Formats: sequence, structure tokens, C-alpha cells
Amino acid sequence: MDLRYSESEEAFRAELRSWLADVLPTLPEKPSQLDWPARRTYDTTWQRMLHDAGYAGIDWPVEGGGRGASPVEQLIYLEELERAHAPYVGVNFVGLLHAGPTVIVEGTPEQRARFLPPILRGEEVWCQGFSEPGAGSDLASLRTRAVRDGDEYVVSGQKIWTSHAEVADFCELLVRTGPEDSRHRGITWLILPMDRPGIDFRPLRTIAGSTEFGELFLDAVRVPVANRVGDENDGWRVTMTTLSFERGTAFVGEVLQSMEFLRALRELARTTGAWGDAAVRRATGRLGAELDALWALARRNVSQAARTGVPGIGGSVYKLALSEIRQRIAELGMELGGSAAFVWDTLPEFAGAAGHGAPGCGGSEDGASTGQSVSNTEIVSTWVHSFSRTIAAGTSQIQRNIIAERILGLPKG
Ligand SMILES: Cc1cc2nc3c(=O)[nH]c(=O)nc-3n(C[C@H](O)[C@H](O)[C@H](O)COP(=O)(O)OP(=O)(O)OC[C@H]3O[C@@H](n4cnc5c(N)ncnc54)[C@H](O)[C@@H]3O)c2cc1C
Repeated sequence: MDLRYSESEEAFRAELRSWLADVLPTLPEKPSQLDWPARRTYDTTWQRMLHDAGYAGIDWPVEGGGRGASPVEQLIYLEELERAHAPYVGVNFVGLLHAGPTVIVEGTPEQRARFLPPILRGEEVWCQGFSEPGAGSDLASLRTRAVRDGDEYVVSGQKIWTSHAEVADFCELLVRTGPEDSRHRGITWLILPMDRPGIDFRPLRTIAGSTEFGELFLDAVRVPVANRVGDENDGWRVTMTTLSFERGTAFVGEVLQSMEFLRALRELARTTGAWGDAAVRRATGRLGAELDALWALARRNVSQAARTGVPGIGGSVYKLALSEIRQRIAELGMELGGSAAFVWDTLPEFAGAAGHGAPGCGGSEDGASTGQSVSNTEIVSTWVHSFSRTIAAGTSQIQRNIIAERILGLPKG
């Protein structure tokens, strides 16, 4: 095993670093966290810039229109973007990180030609319509129904927690095409155009003040059969592919964001004098060591995805550990922030102030990408958002069930 970077990998890093240094200062002003149309414009402009420079779909295979970078190059890409405080993937999350990859693996050549290039160019944004009011952890109990009518499906039902639907062009949608009690055997994976008649989206406001998700009502919405990915009633298998991307590789860059946030907390502790407390040093050291281990796991997932085309079931271990450690880092931030961490508006006099702009505005949703200094707003925003981490993309309890049954081979509980 050679742990050094090859000459071509070093050249890739240098070229990317120099491109980032040139283009980041030309980016427009980050929009308000609450203005979704403006956030779409910002995120898709960045995506277009990546595309034009040849960096879009860094982990997508060349046949899918991506760069087909090696696992090492993918990791270098993430490291350099984080180091330069480049914008996060933002509203392009679903399209780039799990819907697009699913279409690459499971779609027809026509679907790949139609849907993949606009994702890479930042022209079309996707959302995910999996969860329903009565079907979250138990996704196989979903009830949104699709009935075939000639060349179309007629879809009626309700989805919930649909992130970014407000600004999405397409939705990866799970529907029931089998009998009501068919569970896993009667589900189909459809591409729903979001401009069809019969779609009503009602945003939900979170405690963080943002309408990042909402309810999606579907009343006799007509979807072309040509938009079906996989066979009718074979959608559960396709869904497993989607979830393996969502849990296995989509959140890989977030380990680096967490490392950056932890570094900023360490600086804050030094500034406030809290670093003199051995318990703070121990907690910081332990979290740092766990993040190092998680980064090793992330690298493993990326290599596996590059080797087999789809990340493995180990994605559940990664998702579980990442979402839980992010909560613990956020709690450490609240402790170190003291009374300033109860104030949402940025306090210029706060010991760790400066930060890198308002949270969620082109940085990660929780503003965790901060550089060496951190504002009180970033601390409180990271903490508030950290609660959703162990719920979104499947709760921690569900990941534990999957690990127990499918990795450790324990009997079903
Ligand atoms: C920020 C955020 C963004 C989201 N974005 C989207 C999106 O874009 N699209 C989408 O489709 N969904 C989205 N979701 C929804 C998410 O996938 C669901 O919230 C999640 O799957 C849990 O489902 P639920 O909320 O219905 O909770 P429930 O399934 O009702 O679970 C309630 C509690 O019971 C526990 N529980 C349930 N079943 C078991 C079991 N078998 N064993 C042990 N414990 C169990 C759960 O762990 C949880 O603690 C998002 C959620 C969040 C928080």
C-alpha cells in the first residue's frame, strides 16, 4: 500500500486549488437563508461553474456525464472545497447525490440522456418524495397510489418532509402500484415533474425559521410511464440503491465540515480560557479522534462505491455515527458559547466571532463550515439543526436495526 499521493493526484489538487482561488471571489453575495428562489439561483450558479470547469459529478461515472474521478481524487476534491470554504451542494443535494446516481444505475439510456445532463449543469433541481404522514421509518407502508391509464400513471396521495420541493423541477417519488397490503412488493419509483396540474406544496416552518421542507399533496397527477425507473412494483429494490447513495456517500463531505467546526471550537476555547479545563481538552480530543475514524470510514465507502458502482450497507454505520457525533460537537459548542449561545443574532463582541457568513447561506444547512473562528449564530444554528440529523435519511434507531439484522446477522426484533 502506498499512502503518498501520486504526481497526477498532486497535480489535480494544485489545479483545483488554483481554480477555487480564482473563482470563489467572483461568486455573488450569499442570499438570505429564508429566500429559497435566491438560494436556488446561488446554488445552481455554483453548480454551473463547477460544470464548466469540468468538476461537476466528480464521483459520477464518465458514461453518466460525470468526471469519473478516482476515489483519491474525490477525497481531494472534498478536502479542497472545504479548505477553500466553497459553497455546499445546497438545493442540488438530491439530484447530484442520490437521484442522479440512482438514474445512472437503474435508469434506461433515454432517462440517463434526458435527466442527468441538466442536473450536472445546475439547470434542474430535484427533491425526494418518499416519506408520508403514516410512512416514515416504515416506508414500505406508503399509500400514495398510482393507477396506470394508457401511457401515464395517475397519482394521488400525500408526501411530507419533502426538502427543497419549493424550488424543485423533479421529484424522486415512491408510489403504490400493487394491492394496498403489498408492502415492499407493490412499490414503484417514478420521476415526477413538479409543474404538473394537481400538485400542491405547502411549506412547513422549522424552529430554525426556515421552510426547508413541507407537505406535498398530489391529486390525480399524470406522470408518463416513461418516467418509471425500474419495473412496476420493483421500486423497493430501486429505493435500496437510492438509500445506499443517500446514507453511504451523500454526507461524506460533512465529516470535513465537522472537523473544521471542531477546530473553530478549539480556537474559541483558547480565546475564552476554557482550554485550561482538562475536561474540555479531553472532550475535544475524543471528538477529533472519532472524526478521524469516521473519515477513514468515509474513504472506505467512497472506494467501495467506485469499485462496485453502489455504496454498500456499511452506509448505515457511517450515517449513524456521523449524525450522532454532530450532535455531540454541537453540544460542546453550546457549552463553550455560554450565554452567547442563547442569542440567535450575531454578537460582534462574542469571543469567537467573525465566522463565515450567516448559517445555511451557501454553507452547509447548519452553517457548520466555519473556518478557524466561529460566531455565536453558527454555534446555535449548528445545535438547532443537529437534532434533525438523527432523523433525516432514516432515524438512528432504524440504522441500528439495519446494522443488527443485515450486518451482524442478529434475529429480527
Ligand atoms: C431535516 C429533514 C429532512 C427530511 N427530508 C426528507 C425528504 O426530502 N424527503 C422525504 O421523503 N423525507 C424526508 N425526511 C423525512 C425522514 O426520512 C423521516 O422523518 C424519517 O424517516 C422518520 O420518519 P418519521 O418522521 O415518520 O418518524 P417515525 O417513523 O414515526 O418514527 C418515530 C420514532 O419511532 C422510532 N421507530 C420507528 N420505527 C422503529 C422501529 N422499527 N424500531 C425502533 N424504533 C423505531 C423512530 O426511530 C423515531 O424515533 C426528512 C426529515 C428531516 C428531519
